[in-house]
Amino acid sequence: MSLTVLMNAGPWLSVPPPGYGGIENVIATLVPELRRLGVRVVLASVGSSTLPVDEQMSVFDDGQFAALQRPYNQVCGIAQAHLAGVVRELHSRDDIDLVHDHVEAVGLATLAAMGPAGPPTLHTLHWDLAKHPALYGGLDGGDRVRVNGVSASQLARAPLALREHSVGHVHLSTPLAVQADRRPRPEKGEHLLILGRINPGKGQDVGARLAHRVGFPLVLAGPVGPYHRPADLAAAGDEARQNPDVRFFLDEVAPHVDGDLVRWIGTVAGQERDDLLASARASLFPLRWEEPGGTAVVESLALGTPVVATARGCLPELIEHGRTGLLTTDEEELGDLVVASDLLDPDECRRVAAQRFTPAVMAQRYVELYERVRQLSSAP
Ligand code: UDP
Repeated sequence: MSLTVLMNAGPWLSVPPPGYGGIENVIATLVPELRRLGVRVVLASVGSSTLPVDEQMSVFDDGQFAALQRPYNQVCGIAQAHLAGVVRELHSRDDIDLVHDHVEAVGLATLAAMGPAGPPTLHTLHWDLAKHPALYGGLDGGDRVRVNGVSASQLARAPLALREHSVGHVHLSTPLAVQADRRPRPEKGEHLLILGRINPGKGQDVGARLAHRVGFPLVLAGPVGPYHRPADLAAAGDEARQNPDVRFFLDEVAPHVDGDLVRWIGTVAGQERDDLLASARASLFPLRWEEPGGTAVVESLALGTPVVATARGCLPELIEHGRTGLLTTDEEELGDLVVASDLLDPDECRRVAAQRFTPAVMAQRYVELYERVRQLSSAP
C-alpha cells in the first residue's frame, strides 16, 4: 500500500512515553503495525521521541509535559507553536496523503482551518467529551476533517459537531494480546487489583470499601496526582492537597487503606505491573465515569485476569458478561460479582484478547478508516 500519514502526537511527551502517557502509548503501539502494512509514517512529536518511523519532525527538542502546570495562555502558546510547525510542514510538501491527529481540540481546529489546502484529516478522540462540548464548538473542516472514537459509547456521548463528522470507532489494543493464548497459564494469587490513576471516576474508594466487606486483599496501583510513590506523597505535606486527586485519595480512599487488606503501592511499570495483573484473581473497575477507552481493561484480559466492573462507558463493549468478566449497573452488587468471578476461565480472557485486542487488529481498522476519510474528502 502506498500511503503516507503524518501522525500528530503533539508536543507534550516523547513517543513512546517515558512513564505515564496514554495517547503516546497508543501511537507507539499503532505505528509499527501500520508500517508493517506498508504505510509510511511521518511522526510529528518532540525531538526526544525514539519510535522508529520513516521521518520525524519536531518543534521542541523535549516533551513539554511539565509546562502543562503553567498558566493557560502559555500552555496554548506551546500547543500552537507545535501546530504551526506541523502546518508549515504540510504546506511545504505534497506527499502527505492524510493527517492522523491526536492533539485535543487545538490540533483539530488548526488542521480544519487549513481549508482545502490541507490533506484529509482523521482526529482520534481520546477523552470523554460529553462534559466539554465547547472544546470542539468551532469545528468546521467540511468533508476533509473526520473524527473517530475509541469506543461506540464515547462517540455516542460526544457533542453533535463531532458526531456529525464521525467515521466510527476503533477499540484500543495492547501488545500483551499478541499470542496471549499461547503463553503459559500464570499462577493466581488472592488479591484483587485496581490499576489506574487514583481518581474519583475510577472509584478506588468504592473498591476499598468493597474489599473490607468481602474480606479479599486489594492492591491499588497507580499515581495519586503527580505522586508516583507513597513516600513522595507523604513528603509533600499539606501543599499536595491543592491537587483534587490528592484530596480524593486522602479524604475518601486513605481511611480504608490499612496497609494489610487494602494497600496503595504507587505506580507500577514493566514486568512488575504485568505480574501483578496476571496474578490477580480479578481486575476491579468500580467506575463512576464513562470510561472512554480502557487500556487497562484490555491489558487485564490479555494477561488472563477477568474484569469485574460497573457497566459504564466502554466496559460493555470490551467485556462479555459471563465470559471475560462480570458487569453490573448496581455498585452494591460488585462484592457478589467479585466472589463469583472465580468461576470465570482465565484462558477464555486470553483467547478473546488475542482475537480482538491486538495492535494488528487496531492497525487494520485504522487503515480502513484512512481509506474512508480519503474517499469522503474527494467525493464531489
Ligand atoms: N498504568 C501503569 N502503571 C500504573 C497505573 C497505570 O502502567 O501504576 C497504565 C495502565 O497499564 C494503562 C494506562 O496506564 O496502560 C492507563 O490507561 P487507561 O486507558 O486504563 O486509563 P486512563 O488513565 O487513560 O484513563
